[in-house]
Amino acid sequence: YLDLSHLEKSFGTNRVVKDFTLGIEQGEFVSLLGPSGCGKTTVLRMVAGFEQPSGGQIIIGGEDVTRLRPNQRKIGMVFQAYALFPNLTVAENVGFGLKVAGMAAGERNERVTEMLALIGLPEKGGHYPFQLSGGQQQRVALARALAPRPKVLLLDEPLSALDAKVRVSLRNQIRQIQRDLGITTIFVTHDQEEAMSISDRIVVMNGGIAEQVGEPFTIYNQPATRFVANFVGTLN
Ligand code: ATP
Repeated sequence: YLDLSHLEKSFGTNRVVKDFTLGIEQGEFVSLLGPSGCGKTTVLRMVAGFEQPSGGQIIIGGEDVTRLRPNQRKIGMVFQAYALFPNLTVAENVGFGLKVAGMAAGERNERVTEMLALIGLPEKGGHYPFQLSGGQQQRVALARALAPRPKVLLLDEPLSALDAKVRVSLRNQIRQIQRDLGITTIFVTHDQEEAMSISDRIVVMNGGIAEQVGEPFTIYNQPATRFVANFVGTLN
């Protein structure tokens, strides 16, 4: 459904992503896992359209989107944290993209109500971001990303700013919502336990390269390289 073929990205002479090829099924949840600087975020930003690839192709649902602007790609994205508009209410945040896209107020309000119910915060529409906990803010960010009904959801370390307990409950919640909607998802993390617990498949990245792609069980039990074994902690 989401096909990345031979993606390349260089900043000057620095090749950050190298011959990255990955096919993701509709409704699949795939994690990009690897240490800081391995190119995970750059892959995500190319899928979103914030970075233009130096080479390769991005296909979503059969459509070549490589040259399309971010707002033409039908993608929803959630960032690390603090990405909500602080001066807008929760409802206004969730409805923001819909308003920009020209959706009429009635339909927009309906959609916002639906999204707030989906994330389990039906009564928070009139609140401002600062009145919410970090976990609640990230749920609102998820609702905002999903409100325009994107084809693909991109999650860039959405849990990293939260404390451990909230992190586990929110990751389960994200996974549940993702399953219910059947939305194709890429999740970026440097936390192997997180990737293992949440993913259909994991891509272990190192130095801009996909070292191994597989189901969590396989990655853990049959690491393809020494790097993978080290990174997932099966080698000491
Ligand atoms: P992190 O978890 O720290 O964000 P990452 O795996 O997501 O790491 P990227 O953010 O994709 O890694 O960065 C990969 C490499 O590309 C890094 O060496 C980074 O310095 C470099 N890089 C990223 N964006 C730019 C840019 N706009 N200009 C120059 N170099 C960049």
